[in-house]
Amino acid sequence: MNKASLTYVKQVLGDQKAKKKFGQNFLIDANIVEKIAKIAAKKDLLTIEIGPGLGALSEFLCKYSKNVEAYEIDEDMVNILRNEFKDTNFVVNHTDFLDVDLAKYENQKINIASNLPYYVTTPILFKLFKSNLDINKITVMVQKEVADRFNAEVNSEDYNALSLIVQYLFDVKLEMNVSKNCFYPAPQVDSAVVSFTPKKERDYKYEEGLFDFIEKCFAKRRKTLNNNLKDFLDATQIKNIYDKLNFKESVRAQELLLDDFIKMYEVIHD
Ligand code: SAM
Repeated sequence: MNKASLTYVKQVLGDQKAKKKFGQNFLIDANIVEKIAKIAAKKDLLTIEIGPGLGALSEFLCKYSKNVEAYEIDEDMVNILRNEFKDTNFVVNHTDFLDVDLAKYENQKINIASNLPYYVTTPILFKLFKSNLDINKITVMVQKEVADRFNAEVNSEDYNALSLIVQYLFDVKLEMNVSKNCFYPAPQVDSAVVSFTPKKERDYKYEEGLFDFIEKCFAKRRKTLNNNLKDFLDATQIKNIYDKLNFKESVRAQELLLDDFIKMYEVIHD
């Protein structure tokens, strides 16, 4: 039986309920799931799947990938998957993805796919973005409003550290919108599938600390940039930045472009 169907989900769950605390909303539309897998996977590459749940997406990822390694936090899901899954190119680990040491994947090109648990979307994406993985593509289902944030423009409400870091690292594509009715149980809001393909040219000498720096500049969003900088820079360093970059005293992080953050970071380090 097709794993991306309401009948299958109800059958394997039996008396169990989908667990809210793990963000469990299972995909029950096989057409959508196959489309996601085709976007996410490549026949000659490993796909890492985060949160396979009952295997709706995993089944199609196995069809379109060389192999699939999945990380699932919920032991009940892992047991069901190990009982039900027949594909030989599928391995599921009972592990919180946030605890996975990704270093073991660093010597190969990989794809990453997930219908992300929404309560932990941002930390999972930050973990991937900050890793040293050789990523071919990341394809994830997220809440629609989160998807909008990735392409946010400077000064808009959605513009934040995550949007900046993403714009620096990836070409972002909104692949499709997905109605809440494609899930069981149906979430409150609609979703979207977004893909991230690494930018070809990237050569920035301070890259490692730049992301933490950007996050700190946005830490207190309603305060001025100066107010945020005070938490981790001394007065001379801050004065240097404002003098060299001609910033107004009242400037806030959300008014600045990626290039401004890079220049600020250079001022601190040069
Ligand atoms: N992939 C399945 C699907 O599309 O039907 C399930 C998606 S459901 C939105 C999210 C899945 O992620 C759940 O199975 C949940 O138990 C799992 N999960 C939640 N937090 C996790 C974490 N920190 N690490 C790994 N899996 C997690």
